Amino acid sequence: MKLRPNLNVKHEVRIPARTAVDFEVRAGEYVRMTDVCGQQAADCGACSGANPNEWLSAEHTRAYNWRLFPRVGESFCTNHRRPILQLVEDTVGVHDMLICACDAYRYRMYGVEEPHPNCRDNLLGVIKRWGFAHTAIPSPVNWFSNFALASDGTIEPREGASKAGDYVVLKAWIDCVVVVSACPMDLNPVNGYCPTDLVATVLTLEEPRIEVAGG
Ligand SMILES: [Zn+2]
Repeated sequence: MKLRPNLNVKHEVRIPARTAVDFEVRAGEYVRMTDVCGQQAADCGACSGANPNEWLSAEHTRAYNWRLFPRVGESFCTNHRRPILQLVEDTVGVHDMLICACDAYRYRMYGVEEPHPNCRDNLLGVIKRWGFAHTAIPSPVNWFSNFALASDGTIEPREGASKAGDYVVLKAWIDCVVVVSACPMDLNPVNGYCPTDLVATVLTLEEPRIEVAGG
């Protein structure tokens, strides 16, 4: 399903496997998140460009749409219950907004003693560059993550449903900062046991073509 008009690329950044990036998106602009190789989770957060203490909130978004995850046409909202990003295109349809970002403690539970890249440190690292005082990160939107939810409440991590080149497109309702971590998890099926790159693209409305008559 596609709700967006034709768009121009304003800014594009490749997110190498196991790392994170941040970028600004203006109100009315779009951001496309592309899973380059498939089955790669993108742990994503966003906050208001004017107030970093207003952020995309998973729990508020569930109550905003009365769904576990927005459908195309529905929006993510902030902890101030304002819409921040609208899902306008989705070639996958399987994502997660229940599970926290991976962190050093999670890898220790898997028996990893040496430092292991993780989404929490990735996201905190880029957030700190903006001078934000956050020492915790909000629950992320986990694009391309597949946590199967059974009727008895059981959650099972599975390999992602995304194929190479799959993407989602979001429209910004307000000026915001978006952060994305290419999840480094290689000890469960979430990234197919093989973390890979993502691409984030900021898109703007196509400029109208002006024909000049005469000459
Ligand atoms: Zn992760």
